[in-house]
Amino acid sequence: MKTLGRLLGAWLLAMLFASPGAFAQTGPRTLILYDAPPNTAYTKLGFGYAIMLRNLLGHFDSKVDMVPVQNYTAGQLSGYDATFYLGSYYDNPVPAAFMADAASSSKTIVWFKYNLWQFAWDPTYGFQSRYGFNLTALRGLNAAPTSSNTTPGFFDTITYKSLPFVKYYAYDSSTGAVNADPDVGLTAITDATKAQNLVSMSNPKTGEQAPYVVRSGNFWYVADLPFSYIGPRDRYLVLTDILHDMLGVNHAESHKAMVRLEDVGALVSVTAMKSLTDYLYQLRIPFSIATIPYYKDPLGVYNSGVPMQVPMSQATNLKRALNYALVRGGEIVMHGYTHQYSNVRNRYTAVSGDDYEFWDIVNNQPVAEDSTSWALGRYRAGLLELNLNGYRPTAWETPHYQGSALASKASTQVFPKTYQRVVYYTADKPNLTAAVEKDFAVGQIFPYPIQTDYYGQKVLPESLGNIEYDIHLIDPTSSYNYTWQDILTNAQYVKTVRDGYASFFFHPFWLEPQVGTPGLADFKSLISGISNLGFTWTVPSQLP
Ligand SMILES: [Zn+2]
Ligand SMILES: [Zn+2]
Repeated sequence: MKTLGRLLGAWLLAMLFASPGAFAQTGPRTLILYDAPPNTAYTKLGFGYAIMLRNLLGHFDSKVDMVPVQNYTAGQLSGYDATFYLGSYYDNPVPAAFMADAASSSKTIVWFKYNLWQFAWDPTYGFQSRYGFNLTALRGLNAAPTSSNTTPGFFDTITYKSLPFVKYYAYDSSTGAVNADPDVGLTAITDATKAQNLVSMSNPKTGEQAPYVVRSGNFWYVADLPFSYIGPRDRYLVLTDILHDMLGVNHAESHKAMVRLEDVGALVSVTAMKSLTDYLYQLRIPFSIATIPYYKDPLGVYNSGVPMQVPMSQATNLKRALNYALVRGGEIVMHGYTHQYSNVRNRYTAVSGDDYEFWDIVNNQPVAEDSTSWALGRYRAGLLELNLNGYRPTAWETPHYQGSALASKASTQVFPKTYQRVVYYTADKPNLTAAVEKDFAVGQIFPYPIQTDYYGQKVLPESLGNIEYDIHLIDPTSSYNYTWQDILTNAQYVKTVRDGYASFFFHPFWLEPQVGTPGLADFKSLISGISNLGFTWTVPSQLP
């Protein structure tokens, strides 16, 4: 007991006197080097990608430094367990100091996409004899797309754990614009005792195959930069899994699932909520309810032109639905304060549940009032609405997953957990339209929890999306189908990540008779499909 008392005393002293940073991340120390060539339209895109990798490293509780590659100083990588170079800008000069260190270091080095030729083809570094593979070519689209050949093809399929992961491609035949990131570095293994092809990519139109992820001891090469055009079946997921191996942090195979009932506010259908609650409760599946504390329709769009607002105290149906659910495995996630902005259409109706709250989506910029204190004021107002009515949220979810940088950072002051996808900006007050050195916004889906992201948030994942029906005759903004089978397929993909979550959300209004969709049947099919894949259901309150 005496020893224990002394240890506790020492611990308390450390707690009192150490700087907060001393108790921060305990995972590997990592360095991200990114391309930032001055005075170009894409100067800051590399930083956007660096933020995305930094977020994934937050899953490993890593202490991450992000540095423009031109600022690398000799010997720097020796201070890190792993160094990642993101080659996002073609022929951006890579400092000789970095390549010389990489060639002689035993620390983990991961090189993505471009500019490997500066390292691999310079005899100074003895690349091929050291690593047992070589860079043979850079490849993009097989041909330029034309109106008669809109999909010329490229290395667009990455096979991992028996599933074909995709790279996005879209061609607009009216403008000729291609939305894709087809470039890859082709490598060939020359000494199989040194290098292994861990993941293959293929070019279905030509029948070619090539390594996608090559490992040679401490050196890894990834043929592209898997942060562009990501989606739930994208090759991005391959990286999220392989990062465990790159870092030597092998989390156990574990597959959890989460379901969230979305946009639940004052006008929610109690009948729909009871049906969903009863189904989940009967299966003892815990669930979240993304709750909007304060309903506003300032233009009266859904109220015959008469402005309407409903504070929680008057939201009788909402409270009935919540009270019914909370004793049957439901818990509240706070989803905005009003889930709309001011008395203007941002972008749809100005009505709670429809519009953006923490981002001016019409002008694609922060709202006029955007600041830490403005966002905090709204968070606290929403919390007060909930608390005064006896409710406590277990996590925060930003409306439409899009808030300003300041709003996202401010959320950490009041919410220990968030549960969402996130948009990140390369500046707190981004200039997204500058001709030179403009800022970028990058949206990110997570397959697993992120202990701390770039904004300081803990992020619990929503990885699969939601069921959508084409009901454009009733609601012009709902004009496509995304089926329960689509989401179940996404779940199969996320299961390739060793600790990937199958996490989706669902709008209770799909059960309302006037919508005329098989919402409840499809919801049940999806829940049982995910259960049958071997996932175990959980909720934010049960997660650390
Ligand atoms: Zn993990
Ligand atoms: Zn919403």
